[in-house]
Amino acid sequence: MTPFYSMRLGAKQQSDFDNLVAFVDIFTRHRGSCDEVWFSTSYGYPTLDRHREIADRIVEAAAYVRGRGIGASLQISNTLGHGSYARVQDFSGFDWDDMVGPDGAHARYCCCPRDPRFLDYVSTLTSYYARIKPDYVWIDDDLRMHHHHPVEYGCFCDRCVSEFNRFCRRDYAREELVDAINDPDSSAVRELFVRYNQETLLLVASAVADAVMRVSPESTVGVQQASFAWSSYSGGNFHRLFEGIRKITGKPSAVRPGGGYYNDHAPRLVLDKALNLNLQTLRMPGNMSISQAEVENIPHNVSGKSVRGTLLESAIYLAYGCTSLSYSAFMIPNEPPAFHEPLMAALAAWRPFLLRYAALNRGTTNGGVGIVLSETHYKMEMRDKPPFAWASFRGTPGADVFGPVTYGLPLTWQNPQTPALLLHPAAVDGLSDEEIEDVFRCGVITDAHTVAKLNERGLKRILGLEVEEFDEVKSIDIAADHPLNADYVGQSWYHFYTTMGPRLPLKIVVENDRAEIIGNYVLRTDETVVTGVSGVLVETSLGGRAAVFGYNLWTNLVNSAKRHQILRAADWVSRDAMPAFLHTPSQVAVIPRVNSRGKLVSVMLVNVSIDSTPELSLTLRNGAGNSVAWLTPEREAEPLESAGAPEETIVRIAPMAPWSLGIVEVA
Ligand SMILES: [Zn+2]
Repeated sequence: MTPFYSMRLGAKQQSDFDNLVAFVDIFTRHRGSCDEVWFSTSYGYPTLDRHREIADRIVEAAAYVRGRGIGASLQISNTLGHGSYARVQDFSGFDWDDMVGPDGAHARYCCCPRDPRFLDYVSTLTSYYARIKPDYVWIDDDLRMHHHHPVEYGCFCDRCVSEFNRFCRRDYAREELVDAINDPDSSAVRELFVRYNQETLLLVASAVADAVMRVSPESTVGVQQASFAWSSYSGGNFHRLFEGIRKITGKPSAVRPGGGYYNDHAPRLVLDKALNLNLQTLRMPGNMSISQAEVENIPHNVSGKSVRGTLLESAIYLAYGCTSLSYSAFMIPNEPPAFHEPLMAALAAWRPFLLRYAALNRGTTNGGVGIVLSETHYKMEMRDKPPFAWASFRGTPGADVFGPVTYGLPLTWQNPQTPALLLHPAAVDGLSDEEIEDVFRCGVITDAHTVAKLNERGLKRILGLEVEEFDEVKSIDIAADHPLNADYVGQSWYHFYTTMGPRLPLKIVVENDRAEIIGNYVLRTDETVVTGVSGVLVETSLGGRAAVFGYNLWTNLVNSAKRHQILRAADWVSRDAMPAFLHTPSQVAVIPRVNSRGKLVSVMLVNVSIDSTPELSLTLRNGAGNSVAWLTPEREAEPLESAGAPEETIVRIAPMAPWSLGIVEVA
């Protein structure tokens, strides 16, 4: 059976049978709260004898949980090592070379991925635990070539350097290799090195997958991972890894996308994580068995993530492309089992709602505005950049661009179902000229700093715009007399320093008749004095459309006029093809999903504020059917009255409670 809710077990539940029984009792009291548990291999690197002892106990425990009607899967808790923070674990079996950084520094608690002694160890321990015949085997997210503290980029030990030389018939010493992959004039060696990293990851995964197949050929082998927006050190997708695993096991692999958000003290960060999971789901091969979202409530105690926060998070991850949910809710025994019963009761109660939504999502993908991030970002031009800038996204598309999702811009990552794109200036560095041209054949919203970068690269012909610095402190922005601004013409927008972001505003200089002005800078002291252009709509030279804003398009702090302008601009560049448009100014995230024919199937709305919303007015475009219903976790589905045809219809949604969500189902 494909699990929908999986619960990860920690050392306590695995070593203390009474504790395990207490949890299984809770799961069975709340039917549907847990389809399977993940047993986990011992963290750290104990001796193989010790692994065998632990695995023996887990074999018995797995038989017990299955006897109570709950499935059993297995997490391989570490392969290469999570970093120096894991040094509290047992390292008595660590008897091979450690990982080495580009400067020769050693990560004492992480492994050289190509040391045969390490690979043998991983293979042997896997064979011990695989005796539980796990439904799924999950390799943990330390299977990565970056971030093995204190080594950020590995592995540059003598063995790995010499095997790279064999891989590409070169003869580099370590320092020469580091220079070659950071060469400002060519990315040729870097491209080989990224491929080599992918081969290295597959080598380690193969040690696990081969061992699983020898002992438990029915198992599916999957990988837990963290976002591609974190690092492009091993490329912009993991197709090689997942396809390689599929070849070994003869069945589709599985992914558990993840990355942070351990508590809900700053609850809007759930959207950042959701968008990171979204990127991971979009960068998978098409034939994965499941995409099981990571929900981590570390350190699993009363002052951490709330039950309601966990429920909302679960639903939002389904909206962003995951098909099921994996929880780390009680691995650390900071509270007694009974403390966790309310979460299990709540998950059981939400299950019918979430399952209905998950079923609705089958065969669909996120529509709306796609954030641009090249799959070959690592090929970027390296002149005037620090070494390894190609592998890092610091200050670039990551969370920087997610602000507008909180006021209703339907953000996702570029995919075939996104009629509009969002281009951040830092993403431009990772795009080839051909990729940039492809972007501007579509509809794009972007800022003046992107224009500056295009012009520096000799691509001014695409937009025909110039940008200039100016004395921004004297000016404010005002919605120009343009139909796009509708009722907001003349409304001013004071952008204070707190909302301006890291880059100063620029003014836009229009040099051709392809551009229409939608915003102007005017003097703070006299709004009749125009000091420059703050926003334009442009027909690109490549047949696409662009909307360019002079400053901080990425903030979540806008007034109604600016919100309207940005949302309408996205609609304009898409040629009125945005699947959903929330008219009501409010702090509501809008997450549409469309089927393979581009038809709208659902829109999740999330009130991300601590106040109720007004009544909401939402346009739905190109619906998959005529019947529209409002689904919430708490109530029966309610039909929504819609005014208009399936091609374009408006629905009204009753005020939403603080931090609540619902789904517009279009059937
Ligand atoms: Zn090595």
